Amino acid sequence: MKQTHMSHQFVEFIPEKLDSGVLYISPRYGTAAHKCCCGCGEEVITPLTPTDWSLRMDGNLVTLHPSIGNWSFNCQSHYWIRRSQIIWADQMSQQEIERGRANERASKQAYFAEVNRKKILHTQLPPKKATSQTGANGSLHSLWMAIKHWWKS
Ligand SMILES: [Zn+2]
Repeated sequence: MKQTHMSHQFVEFIPEKLDSGVLYISPRYGTAAHKCCCGCGEEVITPLTPTDWSLRMDGNLVTLHPSIGNWSFNCQSHYWIRRSQIIWADQMSQQEIERGRANERASKQAYFAEVNRKKILHTQLPPKKATSQTGANGSLHSLWMAIKHWWKS
């Protein structure tokens, strides 16, 4: 069951048993921990350092930055904790997929428009090959006429 909301608790030590839906924050050890928000039960440790995660309190709302990507777990969950709300990345990627599809449609339309434009150009222009063939036929014809003339004379 995917969670949509995160509460938090300031602690000195991260407890051994974590409750789901609670972000345990240990300012003393500069770390936070919570159970994966997908409900798989895995524990997620987010060190609060300049190179790991940063924690922001907005009144009583907690924001963790950057997103939490649990690639090492089977669930592969990816979410943000923003103002105590859990924003799931798959919702985002669904939007991105939709946007991608829209782009693809647009480029396909542009492609076919271009193809059709070329087709129109092609049919409007006199076909070059046919012109030269006529020329070849013409010269062949005149050669034939010359032979015929020679034969007759
Ligand atoms: Zn999970």
